[in-house]
Amino acid sequence: MQSPDHFSHYRGRFAPSPTGPLHAGSLVAALASWLDARAHRGQWLVRIEDVDSPRTVPGADRVILSQLAACGLHADAPPVWQSTRTALYRAALDRLVAGALAYPCGCSRKDIENAMAADAPRARHAELRYPGTCRDGLHGKAARAWRMRTEGAAIHWQDRAAGPQAQDVQDAVGDFVLLRADGCFAYQLAVVVDDADQGISHVVRGADLLDNTARQIWLQQSLQLSTPQYLHAPLVLGANGEKLSKQNGAQAIDTSDPLSALNQAAATLGLPSQSGSVDHALSAWAAAWASTWVRPERQTRAT
Ligand code: GLU
Repeated sequence: MQSPDHFSHYRGRFAPSPTGPLHAGSLVAALASWLDARAHRGQWLVRIEDVDSPRTVPGADRVILSQLAACGLHADAPPVWQSTRTALYRAALDRLVAGALAYPCGCSRKDIENAMAADAPRARHAELRYPGTCRDGLHGKAARAWRMRTEGAAIHWQDRAAGPQAQDVQDAVGDFVLLRADGCFAYQLAVVVDDADQGISHVVRGADLLDNTARQIWLQQSLQLSTPQYLHAPLVLGANGEKLSKQNGAQAIDTSDPLSALNQAAATLGLPSQSGSVDHALSAWAAAWASTWVRPERQTRAT
């Protein structure tokens, strides 16, 4: 639990992966995190999550930053890039290894599929549930990746929007990857290290990451880091009823008309349409957001 004093140090963030420009779905996450920070009179940071270098599209980071600026979503500090922070992820992995909480794994994806006869996972950052083959040693195989032990990882937490949550990480995903076979640190480790290092008190992001949260809390507990408060915002669905993504045809937002892009994102968040300037619309939404999502004792100070 956070101490009440924690709220005076509100720090939130938007953490896009630069795999393409912002689309209607990613703008919802950006706007929700910005509104929550403003409604709490807190700080809002932008972190470019380019740790997954094979998926990173050159130049997409600059496009995202200019789209955010066009929408009036200005960060309170210069952005940081995960690709410059691998020493922090390495140090965290070393701590986990030293504590016997992480171990090398020699299994290929095919080995895991064969062991589990599993369907390919579809959720964002989902992984095949790992059967624990290398937990007690590599059995002569070469190390490919490093995994997190999940024995005892029965995680309970309260999401500000979705309510009480529970996940047994061992049952849901098994011992998950920290350092991938291609040498990239995994999203789960990087996000936990960065949220702690940047002093993030509140994480506001899309609901498709709700089921990643237990893995992140388990890592926080294992690294003795504090757990931020989480709010998972609604998703924009594509024509096929699935979450809007580049794969199902999401278009880059039209920054020649930022208010209309913002109005669409605000509607997804249940906020009324605004006209006039972008700054006026953002202030009106921040006030409305405060009345729904900020505890009463903070609201009077935030509006
Ligand atoms: N970069 C992550 C993604 O786009 C989101 C990270 C987060 O907000 O925790 O999937």
